[in-house]
Amino acid sequence: MGKKEEIFIPFARPWLGEEEINEVIDTLKSDWLTTAGKTRQFEEDFAAYIGVKHAVGLTSCTAALHLALLVHDIGSGDEVILPSLTFASTANTVVHVGARPVFAEIKPDTVCIDPEDIKKKITKNTKAIIAVHYAGHPANLDAINAIAKEYNLVVIEDAAHAIGSEYKNKKIGAGKNTTCFSFYPTKTMTTAEGGMLTTDDSKIAERVRVLRIHGMTKDGWNRYGKDGSWQYQIVEPGWKYHMFDVQAAIGMHQLKKINFFIEKRNEYATLYDVAFDGIEGIEIPVRYGDVLHSYHLYPVKVKRGKRDEFYKGLKERNIGTSVQFIPLHLMPYYENTFGYAKGDLPATEKVFEQIISLPLYPRMEKKDIERVITSVQEVLKEV
Ligand SMILES: *Cc1c(COP(=O)(O)O)cnc(C)c1O
Repeated sequence: MGKKEEIFIPFARPWLGEEEINEVIDTLKSDWLTTAGKTRQFEEDFAAYIGVKHAVGLTSCTAALHLALLVHDIGSGDEVILPSLTFASTANTVVHVGARPVFAEIKPDTVCIDPEDIKKKITKNTKAIIAVHYAGHPANLDAINAIAKEYNLVVIEDAAHAIGSEYKNKKIGAGKNTTCFSFYPTKTMTTAEGGMLTTDDSKIAERVRVLRIHGMTKDGWNRYGKDGSWQYQIVEPGWKYHMFDVQAAIGMHQLKKINFFIEKRNEYATLYDVAFDGIEGIEIPVRYGDVLHSYHLYPVKVKRGKRDEFYKGLKERNIGTSVQFIPLHLMPYYENTFGYAKGDLPATEKVFEQIISLPLYPRMEKKDIERVITSVQEVLKEV
């Protein structure tokens, strides 16, 4: 059946058009390459889209997570509760500020942090919870916010997967929690590399703006611009984390396409749902009624112990897939430093052994989705 001749369907691909390319060229031809008018424009557009007062452009979601922890004064001696089935940055940044990452279980249906297990992990040192909206399906924010209120904890949302996702008719990031977004090329929209922190709190936004540029009271725009002046103060030893205009030039136009991107992802996810629902050997991702799922990922679960064969079967058919994520409590650094070991988080480990993300992005055509469906059906007969 000529498996080998078929074109490779990558796991993820960005969608960039002439608008992004022309805007980048325009930026390169201007004198402002770093943080200036386009970054401000993109921040304003992003805040308006989310429905939040402040959006601060950063070099990555990792930078956003780091600064979010810092501005909430989380540091040495503090504990932060987060899921283990997430990308490295969610926990690495907790370590960067000197706090201890405490991994909680996920709910196997949404693959998001389990509020019941958060409660079990709270100690007198707990300061914050990081909720990851896995694959673009929002975590159970009502339950998480209620726990935070009861125990006086900060909630930070890792919304790297959840640009445009909604929880109870509100966009992720529009609540009162500090929220971090990613524009990495595989994410729902991209700026090549980039991130955004959103908040309604002017003090937090202001401190992030200072910390993203060395802790200086003035950025380049306010020093080298026509109305600027050379003086500034260092009020904290900050970082070099500011988004710059070349990134924002891409982001401005990606944001105009975000509704189309999410609609297309939902359309294709529904095709997968219909094809795989109720089929032996595969479980489709849940989509609860009170959410809008952005489908950054389409993670299916196969039988325990069969995931790697399933991956190989699709690879042989020229279909790219990926596994999000290897649980962090099983990573050598976290095992050696914090004493985590296999068996600590049985629900997380079970999901990890089953989960695999199928390709899903707007640049796929319907015939690509159909090829993935046929290939999955074939592979399921073999594994
Ligand atoms: C991609 C990702 C990040 C990091 O985003 P960057 O912009 O690459 O720093 C953080 N958390 C999760 C869950 C991610 O998937």
